[in-house]
Order: sequence, then C-alpha cells, then structure tokens
Amino acid sequence: MTMQKTPLLMSRLLDRGAWIAPDEEVVTLTGGGTHRQTYADTRRRAGQLANGLLDLGIAFGDRVASFMWNGWRHLELYQAVPSIGAVLHTVNIRLGAGDLEYIINHAEDRIIFVDEDLLPILEPLAPAIPRVERFVVCGEPGAERWETSLPNAIDYEDFIGGYGDAIEWPEFDENAPLGLCYTSGTTGNPKGVMYTHRSTYLHTMAEAMTDTMGLSATDCACAVVPMFHAMGWGLPFAAAMLGAKQAMPHRFMAPEPLTGLIASEGVTVSAGVPTIWQGVRAHLEAEPERYDLSALDRLVCGGSAPPVSLIRWYWDVHRIEMIHAWGMTEMNPLGTVSRRIAKRSHLALDEDARFANVAKTGLLSPGLEMKIVDEEFRPVRQDGKSLGELLVRGPWVCSEYYHDPQPEKFRDGWLVTGDIAAIDAERYLVIADRSKDLVKSGGEWISSVDLENHIAGLEGVAQAAVVAQPHPKWDERPVALVVPAPGAELSEGGVLAHCAKQFAKWQIPDDVLFRDTLPLTATGKLDKKAVRAELEAEGYRLPDLRGEAGAPAPVPAFASTPAPARTA
Ligand code: AMP
Repeated sequence: MTMQKTPLLMSRLLDRGAWIAPDEEVVTLTGGGTHRQTYADTRRRAGQLANGLLDLGIAFGDRVASFMWNGWRHLELYQAVPSIGAVLHTVNIRLGAGDLEYIINHAEDRIIFVDEDLLPILEPLAPAIPRVERFVVCGEPGAERWETSLPNAIDYEDFIGGYGDAIEWPEFDENAPLGLCYTSGTTGNPKGVMYTHRSTYLHTMAEAMTDTMGLSATDCACAVVPMFHAMGWGLPFAAAMLGAKQAMPHRFMAPEPLTGLIASEGVTVSAGVPTIWQGVRAHLEAEPERYDLSALDRLVCGGSAPPVSLIRWYWDVHRIEMIHAWGMTEMNPLGTVSRRIAKRSHLALDEDARFANVAKTGLLSPGLEMKIVDEEFRPVRQDGKSLGELLVRGPWVCSEYYHDPQPEKFRDGWLVTGDIAAIDAERYLVIADRSKDLVKSGGEWISSVDLENHIAGLEGVAQAAVVAQPHPKWDERPVALVVPAPGAELSEGGVLAHCAKQFAKWQIPDDVLFRDTLPLTATGKLDKKAVRAELEAEGYRLPDLRGEAGAPAPVPAFASTPAPARTA
C-alpha cells in the first residue's frame, strides 16, 4: 500500500469550496426579491444545522427528508445531512398524495424539512405518515410567521439558531449512504435509489470535467432542475465543490422570473429538462430585447431528448451551447453528454454536422461502461442502426433498489435501463425510446421520440407527443398530439407533410390531435402514460377503425421485456 486510503466523503469536497471561495454567493429568488449569502455563511449554517440534527438524535444512516424548492436552506441540508453520516431523502414535491405517503413511509423519514408554501400539500398527509417525528418549516424571509396543523413543527431559523456552528465532520466508510431519491416507474410503487458518498464524489468529479459540463470556479451555476430530481443532477454539489456562484430559482419556475434570474445574476451555466428551455425560448422570442444573456454560455438539457431545432435555436440566436445529457435517477444521474465539439476530429466539422452529433444522446462519461443487448442479452452490433436494450455499469450506477428487490432490472452486475438504443461507429449512444413507448407496427419499431422531436421542429408547434394506439392489423400505430404555439395556425395535413420529409410512409402518424396542453410527469417530462390513459378514457379510435363494429382492443400493456435487436 503506497497511497493513503482517505475515504471519498462529500464533506471534504464541500468544505473545499467554502474554504477557497468563502465570499462567493448563493443567491435565491424570494417573494420580495433575492436572498443572498456566502459559502462561508452556508458552511456556518450547515454546522449549526448538523449540531441541531445530532442533538435531536439523528444517527448514522437515519433518513432526513426535504420537501423543498431549490434554495439556500436546501443547499445547507445537502451539506449538513450527509456530512454527519445521515441520509438526505429529497422528496419530489410534485408527486400525488398516494406516492408521497408511500415513499415517506418506505424511507422511514424521521424529520421533514418543508418550505412554507408547500405546507398545504403535507398537512393532509400527516395522519398517514405517523413515523415522522418533527417538521422543520422554512419560512419566507421577511414574511409573517407561518401557521400549520402539522404536529411538532418548528421554524428552521429557530431550530438552527439554538446551536453553535463548530463541528468536525466525522470520518466513515466511503460506501456509506448519502442521499435517497425515488423514481416513478410506469408501473408499481416508486423505487428508491440510495446514493453513497463514493458514488456522489466520483459523479461530482466526472460531471465537472471540461468535456462533460465543463464547470469552473468562475461559473455562476443555476440548477433549474429541482434538487429533488436526482439531486439536481449533481449541479449543487459540483458548484459547491468548486466554490462557484450559485443562483437558485426557488418556486419561481415560470420562464419570466427564470430568465430574469439568469440575466440579473450573470448565470453562465444552467440545467433543466427540455420543457423548461422550450418555455424560456418562447419567452425570449416574445421579448427579444428585454434580457442581456451575454454571460450565459451553456444550457445542460436532459431528462428527455431535446429537439435538435431547440438546440440549434439557442446556438444560432444566442450563441449558447446546449449540452445534451442523458442519465437516470439510478445513475446519480449522469450517463452521457453530447457537446458541439466533443472530439478533436469535430474541429473540422461544419456546424450542421456538429449539431447532428449533439442531437445524438452522447458519449459515455469517464468511469462508466455501456452496452446494447438483444432479448437474450447478447451484444448487438454497434453500427448505429441495430437497436437493443441499453445496459450500464459503473461506480455511480445503482446495484439494487432501496428495500425493493427488482431482479429483472439488474443482470450480471449491469443495470437494465429500460431504454432502447443503438451505439454508432463514433461510439455515440443514440436512444430510440423507452421500451414502453416504442410503437410496434407490423413487426417494426417506430421511435416516438424521433417523431416528436421532428414535429416539434415545425414552425408553430409548441409541443408534441407521439403514442401508440392499438390496431388489429398492425398491432400498434402512432398518433401525434400537438400543442400549437399561441396564434399559430396548424393543420393535420401540414404536420403530416412535415413528417413525410423525414420518415417512411409506414412511420408517419395515423392521426394528429390538437391539444391546449399535454400532461407532464412530476419531473417535468412528457407523461405518455397519462396521454395514453386520456385517449383511452375518451374512447379514442384510430381513423381507419372508426365506425367498425366492435371496439378495438384496449390500450395494450406495453412490452416490458427488451425489444429484439432490429434495424432502426
Ligand atoms: P429519470 O430517472 O426520471 O430522470 O428518468 C430517466 C429516463 O429518462 C431515462 O432512462 C431515459 O428514458 C430518459 N432520458 C433522460 N435523458 C434523456 C435524453 N437525453 N434522451 C432521451 N431520453 C432521456
């Protein structure tokens, strides 16, 4: 043994940022303007919070939950809870009551920290979550004191105010649990993923790398992705490690306050799902002269595939690089990223070719491995065309769900992702679809994502979803649901003609339905399960089945087994 075996603990990384950049700011939007504090303040307050938690008897491995927006107190929890060896369970505030009750009980949360405006969501749940011993309420600065029917509620400032900030973080095994996030599957209860110090430490390093998000101490980072969605994709940790300024939107997630925050705080890098950046784009198009976005350099976009037209718009109009990222809650969450210039050979490419690469899902993060397999788990050819189920492994990939074995999701040390994908000759991952969302038509697969993103590129389209509908002859056929942009005039013929420019005849949707909105999941992605359920509730039938005797088969249970390898 020649080198020290210092455990990879997040307390070390986070203290490093506060040490080198004590005066750097963490800025949060509030009802009255902004709340500002430094990393030195954050470290001091995290010390007070940690002493308070220890005094309440929070022990190693105990779960402490947050029910909060992105803000300075949430960041204090990110630092204090793991640093004392407890587990931060970041609860998704947008889940329904049934899921909330399930995950709070399943995680056995002892304390819940809750933002004042979210109290009405938790209050009716109190009788169903009796094991929670205490609620700590994070009040709005300067506002009247909150009131709540929750039992054993205490104000955050009163709580930490009773404790000193001096604390020496304990040393423990790097494989100790750090954070718990639940992911909502398409079926069954949400599944918990327990990140460890080791997984998060390595993920933080990989994420900050130049070829990944390219984070620097000189950045001002704004995680729009909620700190309850796979721990804000790790951005709050990475920025804190570097001592980079952070801007946090709290509950002000509409395009206007968000764009205002980005402009006024000089945000250089931000991260969120495509629907966020579509909303910001529409706002910027409506008021092109209003904001100075000259500081903004990179937008990380993941969670679902961003349309290439969106990626291109940010570059062409604002010279902002959209970094396309793919990941999963099960992966801490970063798996691949795709950047404008990702290899030396790309220096010679023209812009169109560079953006064709960005539209692909991305290149593997250092530290991970991936492969595509057929239904017998045999490797599939990496020719960019042969589709199969994506498997991943690495130090920040989960090996089991928290207290919920799902053996079919793990195979020989690999995570079975549920994504159907190809790997091309350049080693890019190209995700075709979730296995449950692929449209199976006449024995061939149609990628709903490809169709959606193509339709979203049509002028006047604000959003598009493509789902399978049952068909007696073809098995399934695609149907497009389109939300027009305000004032846009779209026709079914126009949408279909646009599809015909890129897709074969048999891949073109059988129907186009215009909608005012489309349902989103708790993490802001298109909720195709809900789209299918809506169509079923409406008694929807494909055009060529209308008027036929006998109802079509009900919406099928979508295949949960890996799709066979096929040619895209
Ligand atoms: P979640 O754990 O809720 O973040 O969901 C993870 C899933 O989101 C992945 O397995 C993919 O199906 C999907 N996803 C995430 N990023 C992308 C992307 N860039 N392109 C396509 N699908 C994505």
